[in-house]
Amino acid sequence: MQQNGKSRTILVAGGAGFVGSHLCDALLARGERVLCVDSFITGSAANVRPLANHVGFRLIEIDICDLRNVDEPLDQIYNLACAASPPQYQADPVHTMMTCVAGTGNLLALAEEHNAAFLQASTSEVYGDPAEHPQREDYRGNVSCTGPRACYDEGKRAAEALCFDLLRAGRVDARVARIFNTYGPRMQPHDGRIISNLLVQAISGDPLTIYGSGEQTRSFCFVSDLIAGLMALMNVEPNPQHPVNLGNPGEFTINQLAEMVVAIVPGATQIVYRPLPQDDPQRRRPDIARAKDLLVWEPKIALADGLRQTAAWFVATLGDKQVPGKR
Ligand code: NAD
Ligand code: UDP
Repeated sequence: MQQNGKSRTILVAGGAGFVGSHLCDALLARGERVLCVDSFITGSAANVRPLANHVGFRLIEIDICDLRNVDEPLDQIYNLACAASPPQYQADPVHTMMTCVAGTGNLLALAEEHNAAFLQASTSEVYGDPAEHPQREDYRGNVSCTGPRACYDEGKRAAEALCFDLLRAGRVDARVARIFNTYGPRMQPHDGRIISNLLVQAISGDPLTIYGSGEQTRSFCFVSDLIAGLMALMNVEPNPQHPVNLGNPGEFTINQLAEMVVAIVPGATQIVYRPLPQDDPQRRRPDIARAKDLLVWEPKIALADGLRQTAAWFVATLGDKQVPGKR
């Protein structure tokens, strides 16, 4: 990945989060220098602690809404800074919106100043509760701009608009990845997302919570597959000029997912049904033809294998049946 044998400096905003910390690992493993920027609002120091003594790694603790400059030249910027789980991004919705708009604006200004390529972590949530299935990048979505998910969905849509305005103006080499539900080791145990909830509940011997009928669907991508896709999108030439879906097209109902968790984690049996949250999308599956074509990328890890790895990580991290801070 290095250019002409020279390592590059790559800013990873949100680098102490679940996805961001895996990206920092992968970039360092390729010999790049990493400047991790994070406020720790949902990230964890533990995710980047093993990197603290790495000669190529530096951490700046700051909110991207307040980030105006950095003191070294930058070659690339990945913007992953944003709470991603619905309970977390809804906890302070105004801050989520400002992170997406003002924070992304600050990082784009840095990209322009440093002539650095820029990759925005957008989301399948820009399609809202989709009326088209599977979702292709040219589908414009079905999003409520006034509902409880709007701070995230509309914030991410606005961030995409900023990226494409600056790209069209020739000011920033901006790329946009629309990431579908991603899971794996280092998810926070209590972030409220479906895979962390089900696995932690199963390991703790608690009932598995399913919201609504459980017949809603999602498509789950293992984190190593996503990281490969993000790096491919950042480095592909020429700039694709359009958003690119990154996700695993395997589609599962939440009931099917719960059955898989029951099969993987010994002792997990009981399921309880809870009300479906407002504006919860009914179906979601990426069309990844564009990523296959432009990036020669597709996911490799099957859901059952990824779930086993993630369950093993939760067990090792939290201690079998001993889940601290359990809610
Ligand atoms: P995460 O919450 O684990 O990581 C987000 C990181 O950003 C955290 O370390 C957090 O502290 C940091 N952060 C948040 N707001 C910040 C701010 N204003 N300033 C500085 N740092 C801030 O979430 P994740 O799952 O790793 O998601 C990473 C990115 O990928 C997010 O932008 C998210 O929208 C996007 N994404 C993730 C998924 C998924 O399923 N994981 C799906 C679609 C999109
Ligand atoms: N969900 C569930 N039980 C939980 C957590 C989530 O049934 O304990 C459902 C949620 O309502 C949604 C799906 O699982 O239909 C995926 O939820 P998640 O929050 O992981 O992601 P998103 O809704 O953002 O895709």
